[in-house]
Amino acid sequence: MWGLDNPINFNSSQPSSGSLVTSTHTRTQTGHRAVIVGGGVFGCTTALELLSRGWSVSIINPGTPPHADASSTDVSKVVRMDYGSDIFYHELGEIAIEGWKRWNRDWPRPLYHEDGFLILSRGRMQSGGYEYENRKVLQQRGYNTEHLNTSQVLNRYPAWDFSEYSDGYYNPRGGWVESGTVVEHLVHLCEAGGVQLYSGQMYRLQSEGSRVSGVLTTDGDLITGEVVVVATGAWTPTLLPWLADVLWSTGQPVLHFLPNNPDLFSAEHFPPWSADIANSGWYGFPALADGRVKVAHHGRGVRVHPEARDTVDANHEASTREFLGRAIPALSAAPIVYRRICMYCDTFDGNFLIGPDPNREGLVVASGGSGHAFKFAPLIGEVIADAVEHRHNKWGDRFAWREGGTFGTEEARYTGG
Ligand SMILES: Cc1cc2nc3c(=O)[nH]c(=O)nc-3n(C[C@H](O)[C@H](O)[C@H](O)COP(=O)(O)OP(=O)(O)OC[C@H]3O[C@@H](n4cnc5c(N)ncnc54)[C@H](O)[C@@H]3O)c2cc1C
Repeated sequence: MWGLDNPINFNSSQPSSGSLVTSTHTRTQTGHRAVIVGGGVFGCTTALELLSRGWSVSIINPGTPPHADASSTDVSKVVRMDYGSDIFYHELGEIAIEGWKRWNRDWPRPLYHEDGFLILSRGRMQSGGYEYENRKVLQQRGYNTEHLNTSQVLNRYPAWDFSEYSDGYYNPRGGWVESGTVVEHLVHLCEAGGVQLYSGQMYRLQSEGSRVSGVLTTDGDLITGEVVVVATGAWTPTLLPWLADVLWSTGQPVLHFLPNNPDLFSAEHFPPWSADIANSGWYGFPALADGRVKVAHHGRGVRVHPEARDTVDANHEASTREFLGRAIPALSAAPIVYRRICMYCDTFDGNFLIGPDPNREGLVVASGGSGHAFKFAPLIGEVIADAVEHRHNKWGDRFAWREGGTFGTEEARYTGG
């Protein structure tokens, strides 16, 4: 499977059940039964949470997840509590990090790597800027960070040329997760807990009167349930076209470089980083075990259907090399060994969309990750399950159903051209 460099070896794992959809074409269940469409991080964590609440659950996904094209499927995602002045996401990140540590203890091997986060500013951190506001919130809430104002700190990061990105701090609390492998393990837990995995694709929702009662697949199978949760990431706006003004898919470039001196890029000397990210988009990760170094761009992206995405274009490669030449010179001439356009499902305001559709009883939408949802995996299933059960969730209001409002993004996102 693409992207799983270091898969977990589950001795106890059952072989994938593959397609459970039979030729009977109708599979009706009774009791509290949820059908989850999409086996990314939203879908799998929801399945596990509903399972723990006594629901019987099915996941429909094209093949056993992780799916190669899913946003969640990747070698790495950043985990951070650095959300500028936005205390809501700061607190959510704080809780998520505790959740990752718990999963590290409970799972066969740790998939969250607390290597910290090196947050650089172009020139001095300024009030109102992402880096300054991050640090202010962290300090107010009692977290220590290391300001990059001593040669001792600067010397720790020899790959960086700090002449341009000359200010910033290191937050030891944060890091990255092996996201594709996380989904692989969540799927393992789902299967072990009795979630039925249907290999297939939703074609459309099935309704009885005004109530959504199931999902019709492209193979003509009908899978029914009391509640249908659509968690199809970037495919959601196509599957639920009435949400086209609320969420849309954008392609975002990811490159892997293979430097000839990977030791320079070990986590100790090259932790996950961002470089004036809100004004540039640049961020990246330490070297993987095979020496690859991922550099990505948290920018506006290009609106494109997930099935029509192309590869990373030459202009982006050139601008990445130009940035690296100024900031991380040892990487600037390294060969690019992997290119990917990964899909964000953006909402108009940058907050996820998690809630019952008020116009379609029985339908819950859980999507709109907006390029920053993976880190919240340890708690997102609970938020979605509460939406399914119409329970109030402490964090849920920010993500609740909405069809319009002020445009925006989370504070780290670069929205320039
Ligand atoms: C380049 C990039 C970098 C990112 N970096 C970070 C980061 O550093 N930190 C962070 O926290 N977040 C990050 N994110 C965001 C994060 O990856 C997403 O918010 C999150 O993975 C979304 O999960 P999901 O379950 O909604 O969607 P997905 O993971 O895309 O899952 C959707 C699933 O639905 C399935 N599906 C699609 N159509 C159908 C259908 N018709 N029927 C059935 N199933 C279907 C797909 O196959 C897929 O398995 C990044 C995203 C990208 C693209």
